Amino acid sequence: MRLPVPNSCSLQLVDDVVAERQNGVNAAFFTSIRADWRAKVQEYIGAGGSPQFVQPWPDVAHRKNKFLNLYLSPKKASAHGLVLDQLRDHGLNLCPACGEAGAPNTLDHYLPKGIYPHFCITPHNLFPMCDACQGKKLEKTGDAANPRFFIHPYFDVFVAEQVIKLLIDPPFDTPTFNLIPDPELPAEQLALVESHVRELAIDQRYGHFFREQHRRLIRLVQIMRNSGLNVADTLEMFRVNSEDPSANSWEHVFYAAVLSNAAMLNYLETEPLPTLP
Ligand SMILES: [Zn+2]
Repeated sequence: MRLPVPNSCSLQLVDDVVAERQNGVNAAFFTSIRADWRAKVQEYIGAGGSPQFVQPWPDVAHRKNKFLNLYLSPKKASAHGLVLDQLRDHGLNLCPACGEAGAPNTLDHYLPKGIYPHFCITPHNLFPMCDACQGKKLEKTGDAANPRFFIHPYFDVFVAEQVIKLLIDPPFDTPTFNLIPDPELPAEQLALVESHVRELAIDQRYGHFFREQHRRLIRLVQIMRNSGLNVADTLEMFRVNSEDPSANSWEHVFYAAVLSNAAMLNYLETEPLPTLP
């Protein structure tokens, strides 16, 4: 799911954090790195946070905790404390990384804070994520063959469109489900969606959801038929309703798959439907 870039300026936050430390024990450290830190944040924004281009900062590796403490124990009403509060007060009802319904209750560091501690409070590097995704992502970024595993919700603007497709194969009483990247995506985007789905194990998590959606679908279609409603038109309303806030929500992906599957639509409109528990 595409997210709007945070309102807070990541560069201004560097200046504010350094200014707030001027009377403390870390004044000399933060003053000495301010210009370089700013340059690193600028580089991050320019490169869309890609680990292919944004390298760790070895010079500050031994002072890592000075950054991490900003994230782990922000003072109330401090510049970064307010930014973190704003990011946590997101009002989302689905996880931007996987599309599963539910309010995501952690913040992910797109470039992990253990490797890139200087981005641990950078708003452009932080976004809400569900526990299941967070538990799979951990400190992964990419590998030699595939330098970037994950979609960035602020910079990969193509995810505003539906980028994953569900294939529903017969028998339609008990179908099989397969989630794939949209085959019409350009090669680079397709590879990114593929690694994102694989590394977050999204394809191991959706099975139960789609089986439950299928059970509800059969029941709803039987009611539509009994009421004389047009099945395809009514399902299209369900699809449109679930497209907000993201075409990649699991519910939207399900209805889009049903409506684009002529054999399944024919089954739903004309064949005897099973009574499912
Ligand atoms: Zn998730």
